Amino acid sequence: MTTLSTTLAKRLEDPRLFRQYAYVNGKWTHGEGGREEAVYDPATNEAIGHIPLLEAEQITAAVDAAEEAFVHWRALRADERCERLLVWYDLIQANREDLATIMTLEQGKPLPDSRGEVQYGASFVRWFAEEGKRTYGETIPSPIPNASLGTLKEPVGIAAMITPWNFPLAMITRKAAAALAAGCPVIVKPANETPFSALALAELAERAGIPAGIFNVVLGDPAQVSKILCAEPRIRALSFTGSTRVGRLLIEQSASTVKRLSLELGGNAPFIVGPDMDPKEAAYAAVAAKFQTAGQDCLAANRILVHESIHDEFVAQFAERMAALTVGNGLQGEIDLGPLIHRQAVEKATEIVNDAISRGATVLGGEQSQAPGDNFFMPVMLTGVTPQMKVWREENFAPVAGITAYSTDDEVIEMANDTEYGLAAYIYTHDIRRIWKLLRALEYGMVSVNSVKMTGPPVPFGGVKQSGLGREGGATGIDEYLETKYYCLGAL
Ligand code: NAD
Repeated sequence: MTTLSTTLAKRLEDPRLFRQYAYVNGKWTHGEGGREEAVYDPATNEAIGHIPLLEAEQITAAVDAAEEAFVHWRALRADERCERLLVWYDLIQANREDLATIMTLEQGKPLPDSRGEVQYGASFVRWFAEEGKRTYGETIPSPIPNASLGTLKEPVGIAAMITPWNFPLAMITRKAAAALAAGCPVIVKPANETPFSALALAELAERAGIPAGIFNVVLGDPAQVSKILCAEPRIRALSFTGSTRVGRLLIEQSASTVKRLSLELGGNAPFIVGPDMDPKEAAYAAVAAKFQTAGQDCLAANRILVHESIHDEFVAQFAERMAALTVGNGLQGEIDLGPLIHRQAVEKATEIVNDAISRGATVLGGEQSQAPGDNFFMPVMLTGVTPQMKVWREENFAPVAGITAYSTDDEVIEMANDTEYGLAAYIYTHDIRRIWKLLRALEYGMVSVNSVKMTGPPVPFGGVKQSGLGREGGATGIDEYLETKYYCLGAL
């Protein structure tokens, strides 16, 4: 096994947060077959560390450990689990700077954004720590003579979580905190591109007194590990955040064991600008909604639909604002956009831009000769985008904005809904009638009106159509990890 990588560990106040092992049953674990994989800083393409690739028996050992630990964890009182989770929350907050450094090095996002994600990720731990104390059952008026009816809420069992690289910490806490608070042990399989944030969370969970076997991090070949997790009957819930392609695969693979599925999949968000809007205000908001995390965000405003009466002014303002964005290594100073996650993402973005140009779109920006490295992609604005183009049909997950003019509300509703996705949509207008009309007609799980920010622990996050199943966060987020047991107490 590789020793502690000097570059990353030296940057941390607490080098023990940088772990190059899996974490199973409270132990830092090597791959028994000796297989490992390098993890790269996408900004420099330098290896920052290595992870072990576990063998099938080691994944099963994590399930064994979780099964054993479940007995004690579910038996704790909710307020006892809450206390441990609150200690975990405090530790995440106390180590914010180190966690942000790890995140920027493995993911590439600007350091201030990483700090923001740590804060955001931690907030789910606090939220669900408290929600665990409110998993109330019900009393049901009985239609059966002399009987008392009701429901109990019980932990569903072992929960597996497969998470993406774009939000390496928050996508774990949003799931794991809910499961842990509900009384479930978890087995996390993070993206191989960004495992170190997950492993740092495991280190802090251990320090918080979360018992061995309750929070496990397994690493390996993603397709192989996921297959094992899906086929394992003792895993009762599977929560996945990632692409719709892999989500479909996991549905198939989980069919044989009939798991509880929670899927947060891709998005292709419309950003609708009404004729009454100030073009500058709307354009600045659209730039913020599109280029966050270099466009690698499931909430990114992909299809910007602008009323024809203000289209040209909007485009001019958007171009000016986009030109001011800075691109560079997330560790250096005030950077707006870091690199894309790897070279294939740059190639995909290039293909999407070329496809749009070949079908008649006009391009602005994207001078790739100015990119500060192989994995960087300079922001691009495409106008005259049509539904035939990939930039319309596909989630581009890159700093590529597609803009289209529309003339009526009915037309823009049809355009906005013209996608297999249904995660998030944005509306910018001050016309209350238009707001209501659009809000009700949009086939999306989340609609944000006149605000780029829309997420946080109290809100139900999730999509409709092929953007997923279930909701994370909010008052119902914990239900993904609870079973409802109905009881009938007859003739008491
Ligand atoms: P991805 O689907 O490629 O990977 C997600 C996870 O699945 C990773 O852990 C990966 O290792 C694993 N995986 C990859 N191939 C697999 C396979 N064949 N079998 C089983 N597991 C496999 O997605 P990504 O590229 O990491 O993330 C980007 C996607 O995630 C985008 O589509 C984005 O919209 C989506 N996303 C959605 C949300 C949301 O909340 N809806 C949030 C963030 C990202």
